[in-house]
Amino acid sequence: TSSVRKAALIEAANRPIRNVAFPERDGRAMYPSEFYGEYVFTTKDMAKALPKPVFADFLKQKRGHQTLSKPTADAIAHAVRVWAMDRGATHFTHWFQPQTDTTAEKHDSFLSFQSIGGGEYAAIDAFSGSQLLQSEPDASSFPSGGMRSTFEARGYTVWDTTSPMFIQKAPNNTKILYVPSVFISYNGEALDSKTPLLRSCAAISKAAVELLSLISPRSVTSQPPAAQVVTTLGTEQEFFLIDRSMYAMRPDLKITGRTLMGNLPPRHQQLEDHYFGHIPTRVLSAMSELELELYKLGVPLKTRHNEVAPAQFELAPVFEEASVAVDHNLLTMELLHKVAHRHGLKALFHEKPFQGVNGSGKHCNWSLSTDRGENLLEPTVKPETNYRFLLFLVAVLDAVHKHAAILLAGISSSSNQHRLGAHEAPPGIISAFLGDHLAEVLNAIEERRGLKTFSVPHFQSVKLGGTVVDLKVSSLPNITRDLTDRNRTSPFAFTGNKFEFRAVGSKQSPSFAVTLLNAAVAQSIREITAALVEQKGNKEFPSAEDQLEVIRKYIIASKPIRFEGDNYSAEWVTEAEKRGLPNIVSAPAAYDELLKPLHSDMLTKHVAILTPTELDSRYHILMERYAKDMLVESRTLLSMTQTQVLPAAFEHRKMLADSATGIESLGMKPTVELEQLATTSDLLEGLSKSIASLKALTKTLEDNEDVKQQAHAARDELAPLMQQVRIGVDGLEEIVGDKFWTLPKYTELLLTV
Ligand code: ADP
Ligand code: MG
Repeated sequence: TSSVRKAALIEAANRPIRNVAFPERDGRAMYPSEFYGEYVFTTKDMAKALPKPVFADFLKQKRGHQTLSKPTADAIAHAVRVWAMDRGATHFTHWFQPQTDTTAEKHDSFLSFQSIGGGEYAAIDAFSGSQLLQSEPDASSFPSGGMRSTFEARGYTVWDTTSPMFIQKAPNNTKILYVPSVFISYNGEALDSKTPLLRSCAAISKAAVELLSLISPRSVTSQPPAAQVVTTLGTEQEFFLIDRSMYAMRPDLKITGRTLMGNLPPRHQQLEDHYFGHIPTRVLSAMSELELELYKLGVPLKTRHNEVAPAQFELAPVFEEASVAVDHNLLTMELLHKVAHRHGLKALFHEKPFQGVNGSGKHCNWSLSTDRGENLLEPTVKPETNYRFLLFLVAVLDAVHKHAAILLAGISSSSNQHRLGAHEAPPGIISAFLGDHLAEVLNAIEERRGLKTFSVPHFQSVKLGGTVVDLKVSSLPNITRDLTDRNRTSPFAFTGNKFEFRAVGSKQSPSFAVTLLNAAVAQSIREITAALVEQKGNKEFPSAEDQLEVIRKYIIASKPIRFEGDNYSAEWVTEAEKRGLPNIVSAPAAYDELLKPLHSDMLTKHVAILTPTELDSRYHILMERYAKDMLVESRTLLSMTQTQVLPAAFEHRKMLADSATGIESLGMKPTVELEQLATTSDLLEGLSKSIASLKALTKTLEDNEDVKQQAHAARDELAPLMQQVRIGVDGLEEIVGDKFWTLPKYTELLLTV
């Protein structure tokens, strides 16, 4: 082991466990429910702090029925400032989501100066309604995809009243008030990822409410129709945690988030002992500290466990309204990053930090719920006669079928591409999995036949080789089983009463993926509503038969997207091609789909959640980021190879040469040394050539100013060359003396925590 690596290893091994005490009350640990949301300025807090008419005004505004008046905004600003300062806040910030997959903030102190006459000023604490409502960061430093050149550089952050304000700790134990915001240009165009998400949620709500009032009109049902339908989202976040001192010695991890070189240790995930295994103590104490902070922030974290790969873990919250769920997912990632640091750990959110072991995803569990809390994708016991469920189900299938290509654009990035198409993750083909029971329901409707009998699923009996075996252990309580089985390979799977979009990457904000899905589904719901109106003819409402007719039509139209088999198999690729489904493993190719009329018309004209300029700017930002990421990776790889790998190999070669001369001077034949020397030299020569080609191509691409060409060439030419360099480097890592090798190896990175 090289001396630096050794020092880092010893540091990692001796790291003390940091334990953060749970808050106590009356000599006992508090219940999480007692401090849950303590740092959130909830609607309840607001009701308490505001005069009644002001609070009523706010509620009307929040439901989109009116704009906030200046006196109302001033009153809320005052109330939230007092609430926050009582808890130690000194500053406030608008908190927004530029198109960087992260959040942005700029702090302003509450400290202000008020003229008291005679040219004198008094220091006061203040927060005005207009400061709460909007702020003006310099928009020119955030990605705008060309909107800057066409429009003014001014950008505004505007308070998003749908997401609650909260406080977070600053290192000196003061606090900062966070005001969730959207980020728009001078002309009101979205510069962020949240505005389109909110628009897509509104679009789906409007479409769903229209469909609901058509099929369950007030005259027929006793309850009033839903006034609003919300998109619900639950994000299962996967990530790696590795030791900080190991991390600190890997420039590739620091700069690009993934290892650009390195061989798998002999033992990694093949024993399948890590998944759901015992959580390492250091990791558990970091997770507990994170939970503590997230509970206070009102983030409903629910589960924690080991994932498949060594050093890989997962956290999942209880689902919430989509825009709030996105805020909370981003908060979770940011806090995990900070908390991990305190435990001597580094959190890696990259989709594929280590070649050869599983990558990380962010499964986005998605459904629709009415303002009465009914899940529209709940199949109930008899889905075959639940037409409302079936109408929404076929709407989702139709949307995914028509717009699979842009769903891929929504999840594609330079980092997620290493997961897609690889063997452990959904491939570049989007398909939807329903499970046996629902598939049979749809098939029966399509074929106008009765349902093959399905016993109500229970664990009581299972068919084994033709005979029914009673599996019930009498000492165990009765348990119910979901209508769907699990298919781990499906990128878009129906799991009980929601769809699980699994292709989303761990590092990405779920925002864009959900926005595109929402828009596509909103469009399909609208088409289905129109089809029902046509089908009912002169009748006031569509009859049950009318509904079934439309359901059947959409079952048939969307059938190619349904796939119940193994998505990782080679046969599926052929089959999908026959069905005409897109198979897009190149991120730039997926982005190109955004501008094709079938999709761009849906996004900019029909559902209209983006203006053409906004869509165009997103396209450019994606392409540009992809090209930049790839070029940064290439430069990092070149520099590490040149400054760390080659010198180690040279020292190794020198050792062999010295040894050979020494042996020879004793009159013996240095056969082994010469053999090893030849191998090393061959590898070095090959690597040297690959480096030269990579260097040349990198330079050519850097000089190319057309981002589209740059991105495509990065994907099609640069990536294979980088892989070639990696193979050379990894070959050397296997033979070069360990004491010469300065970079921590996979064994140390993955098995130290
Ligand atoms: P599984 O283990 O099958 O993936 P879980 O029941 O553990 O599913 O849920 C995974 C995630 O799905 C959780 O975040 C959960 O809150 C979320 N979820 C459950 N129901 C819904 C729903 N109706 N809409 C959105 N997300 C949901
Ligand atoms: Mg899941």
